[in-house]
Amino acid sequence: MITVADTSDVRTQRAIHFLVRYLDNFGDSNKTPDYSAYWCKADCRRSSLPDNMVYSINTGVPTYKFSFHPTIFLAVAKEGVVHLKTLFASLDSGTQIIPWAITNHYVIDEDGQSRFISELELHKKEYRTIKNRNITYHFPESVTFNKPRSDAMLFRLKNIERQWGFKPIQIDYYYATNNIELSRMRGLDFNYNMDGMTPSGITYSAQRMIFCHGLGEGYLHEVLHIYFNPRYEESPMCHAMIYYLAGGLGKDFNWMINRMDEYLQKFPETDLGQFENLQSKDPMLHIDFVVKGLLCKLIDQRDGITGLKRALKYKTLDELLLTEFNLRMSGLDAYLKAAIKKFISK
Ligand SMILES: [Zn+2]
Repeated sequence: MITVADTSDVRTQRAIHFLVRYLDNFGDSNKTPDYSAYWCKADCRRSSLPDNMVYSINTGVPTYKFSFHPTIFLAVAKEGVVHLKTLFASLDSGTQIIPWAITNHYVIDEDGQSRFISELELHKKEYRTIKNRNITYHFPESVTFNKPRSDAMLFRLKNIERQWGFKPIQIDYYYATNNIELSRMRGLDFNYNMDGMTPSGITYSAQRMIFCHGLGEGYLHEVLHIYFNPRYEESPMCHAMIYYLAGGLGKDFNWMINRMDEYLQKFPETDLGQFENLQSKDPMLHIDFVVKGLLCKLIDQRDGITGLKRALKYKTLDELLLTEFNLRMSGLDAYLKAAIKKFISK
C-alpha cells in the first residue's frame, strides 16, 4: 500500500500512478520489472539496470522492498518533469520509525509515454565522464579526476589480467568523494548506510558497473569483482581472494593481517576455526575474509598463481583445507595463529 501526496494537477497525478505501478513490480516475488518499460531511452542505453537506486541498501534486496508502506510525500511539476520524493521506512515493534531511503523519481514524457529519467541524465551538466583504458569514470563535477591514481590501479589490474589470463572488461565506474555525494548522484536524498565513512562499494557484475566512494579512482577491489564474479562467484573463496589481492575497506591485506594480530592479542580466546560464526568486535576487521585471505596467501607463497587458481575450484572450504593443508576445521585455529605470527615478525 502506498500513500501519495495530495494533488489535483493531472500531469502530477499521472506521474504518481506511474511510480506506484513501478513500485508494485517489487512485490513479494523476486522478479524485477522490465526496466525498459519504465526508464527513458538514454538511461536504458547507459545500462540494462537503468535504476541507480534499486539496490542501494543491499545488493540482493531492492530498496523498494524495505518498506510495506512507501510514502510519496512530495510531487512537483515543472518544465516538463514531475519530481516525486518517496520515503521508505518501517516501524519497529513500538512506535519508532526506521527510515531506510528517500528516493527521487523524475517522470518525463517520452514519445507520449511516461518514463523515469535518472538524476545522472537529468542533471547531466553536473556530472563528468572520463575514460581511462577500460574504465569509464562517472563523477560529480566537484571532483577533480586523479589520473595518477587511476593509472596506479590500472597498473595493478593489468598485472592481474596477465597472471590470471583475463581480457580487459569495459566497466562503468561511478564514484564520489563520500557516501552522501554518491547517494545523491544515484538519486537518493537518504539511504540507511549513507553516513558510513569507510570506503565502500557495490558491484553489478552483469551490468559491469560499480558504485563506490572513499578510494577515488582506485577502487581495485570492486573492479576485481567484475572480473572474478562471473567465473568464481560460486567459490567459497571468491570474496576472500579479492580481499587478498586488493584489500578491503580501503586497506591492503598486510594491514589486515596486522589488525588481526592486534585483535587476537586483545581477544586471545578467539577461535579462528569458528570464523564463520564469529561476530567481530572490530568494525574494521572482517574475520571471515581475513581467515580465508590468509589461506590464499599461504597457497600463493607455496604455489603462486597456479595455486590461487586452484583454490577457487574447491566447492567447500573443508575440501580446500584437507587437500591443500592436510587440515580439518578443528586444526585451523592453531595453524593460522602460527602463520600470522610468522607474517608479523617478517
Ligand atoms: Zn567485495
